[in-house]
Amino acid sequence: MLYILFTTGKCNLRCEYCGGSFGENEVPWKVQYKLDDLKRLIEHDNEATIAFYGGEPLMNPNFIIDVMENIKVKRFVIQTNGTLVRSLPEKYWKMFSAILISVDGVEEVNDKYRGKGAYKLAISAANYLREIGFNGDLIARMTITEDSNIFRDVMHLLGINLFDHVHWQLNFIWSKKWRNLNEWIEQNYKIGLKKLFDIWLNELRNKKVLGIAPFQGILKRILDGGVAPPCESGVNSVSVNTNGEIIACPIAVRENWAKVGNIRNNNTLNLKSMITEPCTSCEYFKVCGGRCLYTYKERFWGENGFKITCDVTKFTIDLVKNNLYEILGYIKNAGIKVDEVKYPSFNNTVEIIP
Ligand code: SF4
Ligand code: SF4
Repeated sequence: MLYILFTTGKCNLRCEYCGGSFGENEVPWKVQYKLDDLKRLIEHDNEATIAFYGGEPLMNPNFIIDVMENIKVKRFVIQTNGTLVRSLPEKYWKMFSAILISVDGVEEVNDKYRGKGAYKLAISAANYLREIGFNGDLIARMTITEDSNIFRDVMHLLGINLFDHVHWQLNFIWSKKWRNLNEWIEQNYKIGLKKLFDIWLNELRNKKVLGIAPFQGILKRILDGGVAPPCESGVNSVSVNTNGEIIACPIAVRENWAKVGNIRNNNTLNLKSMITEPCTSCEYFKVCGGRCLYTYKERFWGENGFKITCDVTKFTIDLVKNNLYEILGYIKNAGIKVDEVKYPSFNNTVEIIP
């Protein structure tokens, strides 16, 4: 199972998507439970992955070190903005299986939303991790806004030759409604996505696997299926708030529906898929899995917003599904194992459906 641990609610950036730190009453800035409570929750699980999360998780490096020194798990993951990369000694960086660095694409777009200088710090963190010999999965974790150009921004990040994978989430429903949402989807996003997919397919034909996580993740879901939602929130993934509350999804720190337990109790978690209709009857359900539990529950943009998101999801899935025969043929011709193309091999917090 995936255990996402908030190390603090504090963040040193104020990105427009989330507005910076959580309030102390939502995600306290210090961890309020004991390490023994965490051990009891996690150590019986032979397949456990711990992912450090925040706020900015590196605002509390001592907690990360404590956990990495004392809790035995199969894998460690971290999602960071990269600005404080030097606050954790090299030894610990090398223990991670996956490191996700938040960066949205070209500098101008990134810094518009994340603050001036954030791009340079993120890229410099990725460089530093490579320099010290980190050889796990380095992932560029993008947030897509109406200033993004998916083709330009993904190709830019792949072109830097630092990241193994690029993944993105659409900043839908979290923010105010976009100025020209439909126009952006039809005239910008879908066109760019198709172009990106064509390059991915062409590279596969040339025996090269481009690390575009959504295409690889969708391929995996088409071939293997999986739980709903694809991020496994509330089923095989829980998040532990610094106050000890255990929630299904790390975004849902305020929502009652998301509460599945408390670290100080007997650790019986109330786990189940919370995705039901209309998703379970949808022909895309096996692959889409309801996309995102939070969006499914909190329809900030109403029914119409939900439908718009579904339309984009279906378009993305179809790119892979309608070319499955060719994809599998190219993989075979290239002499690559399908497992090298399917992604991720374990839940590393990449949500698969953008
Ligand atoms: S496409 Fe929409 S309705 Fe269908 S499974 Fe996904 S989220 Fe649910
Ligand atoms: S995809 Fe949605 S439900 Fe899953 S972790 Fe992200 S916000 Fe939560």
